Amino acid sequence: MMSYSLPEFLAHAIALEREAEERYVELADMMEAHNNLDTARIFRDMARFSKLHGDEVTERAKTVELRKLNSWEFRWRLPPEVGDDEGLHYLMTAYHALKYARDNEIRGMDYYRTVAEKSEDSEVRRLGNDFADEEKQHVEALERWIAVTPRPSGSWAEDPDPAQAL
Ligand code: ZN
Repeated sequence: MMSYSLPEFLAHAIALEREAEERYVELADMMEAHNNLDTARIFRDMARFSKLHGDEVTERAKTVELRKLNSWEFRWRLPPEVGDDEGLHYLMTAYHALKYARDNEIRGMDYYRTVAEKSEDSEVRRLGNDFADEEKQHVEALERWIAVTPRPSGSWAEDPDPAQAL
């Protein structure tokens, strides 16, 4: 990863937070459709945090010229062993959806931390570390929910559990 300028960093952070917000809204809708209201609430909260953070960064970015970005750099990733259709099916359990979100929060955290380490711009370093700390709190919050969410057993699906491979 190259050393980002402040405008590049802000543009990346906005893309990352907007992506997270969209995914959390989708996950919340999915959990509601499956009457898993507690987990839906968690994802609504996470969507709100991402939106607030994205809005903050957008506000901060108003003073700088942002470059256009390829948002694919920030797409959330399904677990690699999960195919497209199965992916959705897989995420219909609260446990897997939470783990999926947790894994993507870890990617966000690592991303911000790496940017902070690599940048020669002191403001990028400062913001990168701030944002990484914020993502760390999201990771920890999701970890706490995962710990109290029943792990689906064989009853989850007739198919073998893709997560067993992890
Ligand atoms: Zn986050």
